[in-house]
Amino acid sequence: MSENRLREEICRYGRSLFERGLTPGSSGNISLRLDDGGWLVTPTNASLGFLDPARISRLDAAGQLISGDKPTKEIPLHSALYESRGSARAIVHLHSTHAVALTMLPEIDPRAALPPMTPYYLMRAGETALVPYYRPGDPAVADAIRGLAGKYSSVLLANHGPVVAGDSLEAAVFATEELEETAKLYLLLRNLNPRYLSPEQVADLARTFGIDLPSLDGHEGHDHD
Ligand SMILES: [Zn+2]
Repeated sequence: MSENRLREEICRYGRSLFERGLTPGSSGNISLRLDDGGWLVTPTNASLGFLDPARISRLDAAGQLISGDKPTKEIPLHSALYESRGSARAIVHLHSTHAVALTMLPEIDPRAALPPMTPYYLMRAGETALVPYYRPGDPAVADAIRGLAGKYSSVLLANHGPVVAGDSLEAAVFATEELEETAKLYLLLRNLNPRYLSPEQVADLARTFGIDLPSLDGHEGHDHD
């Protein structure tokens, strides 16, 4: 896909996310990694609902601004996730209500922030890690993400929001939407003793669809009951 098409894609998905109330005001940001190692990233203080393709920040492989507006100050989030997830081509970060609410609940397992509720959550988002609170733009958040050793494509920042990587912009957007909807389901069902997918059902999905789930590599994840 040409760079111009990719710029338009960022604006189209950004508008779609904004119009559905998935990230308010000028919150949230989107980045794409280009073939030359450089990036396209949404500018600082820009609403995802009103992006201009020509003003998207274009960075070189070293992260220096080549053209467009000044990039989001949340760059450290993106660079850490790209660094640890070699196959990632796009990252979406939102301040979506239900995912943010989830991060503040006391029972959340930082290595499996959501229980296995639906197959599409696992197929699109996989499992989700939760990292502690950092001030927006604090470079220390990058160390927290690197500390996950690339096992998670979906990460929740406490009291802040989700950061999700995908092998395309569409994949990253769809995974972020699944994460948000699954957080909403969790909040609806919390304390109602819902039936989640069983470990056998999760293992069957992982096998059938080739999903790489950290909890299946010997880590105990799904103790949410
Ligand atoms: Zn943010």
